[in-house]
Amino acid sequence: MTSIDRYAVFGHPIKHSKSPRIHQIFAEQTGQILEYSAQDVPAGHFSEAAAQFFAGGGKGLNCTVPLKELAWAYVDVKTERARTAKAVNTLALQADGSLLGDNTDGIGLVTDLTVNHGIALAGSRILILGAGGASRGIITPILGQSPATIAIANRTIAKAIQLAAEFQGKGSIEGCGFDDLKSKQFDLIINATSSSLSGQLPPLPDGLLAKNGVCYDLAYSNETTVFVSWGLEIQAQKSLDGLGMLVEQAAEAFFIWRGIRPKTRPVIELLNSERKM
Ligand code: NDP
Repeated sequence: MTSIDRYAVFGHPIKHSKSPRIHQIFAEQTGQILEYSAQDVPAGHFSEAAAQFFAGGGKGLNCTVPLKELAWAYVDVKTERARTAKAVNTLALQADGSLLGDNTDGIGLVTDLTVNHGIALAGSRILILGAGGASRGIITPILGQSPATIAIANRTIAKAIQLAAEFQGKGSIEGCGFDDLKSKQFDLIINATSSSLSGQLPPLPDGLLAKNGVCYDLAYSNETTVFVSWGLEIQAQKSLDGLGMLVEQAAEAFFIWRGIRPKTRPVIELLNSERKM
């Protein structure tokens, strides 16, 4: 008798995670037989829960807030994008028993922007708001698209400057505070702060978005986020939230585990239609 391959997402809180649903749809679509569950794991219990999961035959894990940095420290081998992100959202058990750690958030964002929405990043002036884990995770994949410049603006200015410094030499990238954005203009503004989750908007000056520019909020919600609303108000060509990124990062994890790429568009359309109901 062969046992079913088991995967899970760990996080705290985890009740509202869409990941089990997304992976179940991917499995059905690709004819893969697997089980994917969600487990509430507070930070203090991560090592114990991960060890138990893999000892019990688990094949792969996703990690979300607040576990990505702990997962980064836990794995045996890291991909380049996980190394620079200093955070791991996907763990995969290798044939030799070692644990591979990857970060699929950044590639998820880039795929959603470039493939799903047809937004070219090459030569663009890009502003990233926030200098936390999500910002760190998206920088390497964005740099891979050869933007003209990246500015990172953060409430705690020192964190933005420090984060930009880590990527010096890999592209034109600088860190600053929100006040330093006056009289600057960008083609793409990415909100990687967690302020949307509390319904707040970082203090942003008028004229920040170039004509035909795009706004993208990494956060997603059934209601329009405050940042997406702001983008609509200032007449962004597109003002998007992070649901597409969520599905794309999941597809990349699924590929790492199963070696097969699920179709993401129908899943994004399904989840979008459900939140409009
Ligand atoms: P972190 O806690 O690591 O970082 C939070 C950042 O937000 C910091 O830069 C912090 O600034 C800033 N911030 C928080 N509140 C405010 C505020 N009121 N005004 C201005 N800045 C604020 O969070 P993450 O980086 O892990 O996550 C950021 C967002 O990205 C979350 O909304 C998360 O849900 C989303 N995300 C979405 C994904 C997807 O698949 N769509 C994947 C990963 C993340 P300071 O340094 O000054 O405290």
